[in-house]
Amino acid sequence: MAVTSSSMLLRNFAAAGRVVRATSRIFSTGELIRVLPHTRSLRFISSTRAAHNEEAAAKAAASVADTGAPTIFDKIIAKEIPSDIVYEDEHVLAFRDINPQAPVHVLLIPKLRDGLTMLSKAEPKHVEVLGQLLLASKIVAEKEGILEGYRVVINNGAEACQSVYHLHLHVLGGRQMKWPPG
Ligand code: AMP
Repeated sequence: MAVTSSSMLLRNFAAAGRVVRATSRIFSTGELIRVLPHTRSLRFISSTRAAHNEEAAAKAAASVADTGAPTIFDKIIAKEIPSDIVYEDEHVLAFRDINPQAPVHVLLIPKLRDGLTMLSKAEPKHVEVLGQLLLASKIVAEKEGILEGYRVVINNGAEACQSVYHLHLHVLGGRQMKWPPG
């Protein structure tokens, strides 16, 4: 199993407590992965595992993409489950991502989904709320002190790793971003 072999590898490396320069290969989810020197290896393996988790979550969520079923974000809007809200107005709710990918990682959602399960469902009637979301992303960046450099991301569909089918903008910042994204 991919997760098992990755964790075993992490444990073995941690136990060794020294730089490992092996160039052997291991199997993880059926792929061959080159074992790199110690510090890079740990980061590479853990980011590889995270990427697989994201893809798996996105593929699982894709089956409900077009059903219009409620999502976890409906519960957040209704305050039925807790969230760390950083900004709110009549149309937009912004809260911290539960699995942050940067020191600042805030999600912005329209309070009324109105068919916007994903960006590719946008219609002319959504122009106003799309503008409100973008403007709110700037307000959030300002509040979070990252106005000088931040990234706004919308994942659209399983291939882009969308896992929640209620349109949302990711506002990421507080560290140097890389390009191209993964
Ligand atoms: P995406 O993969 O673009 O659909 O993004 C969905 C995001 O929602 C992911 O980054 C998750 O970490 C985040 N997320 C899922 N559930 C929650 C939650 N209860 N509170 C905050 N963020 C969440």
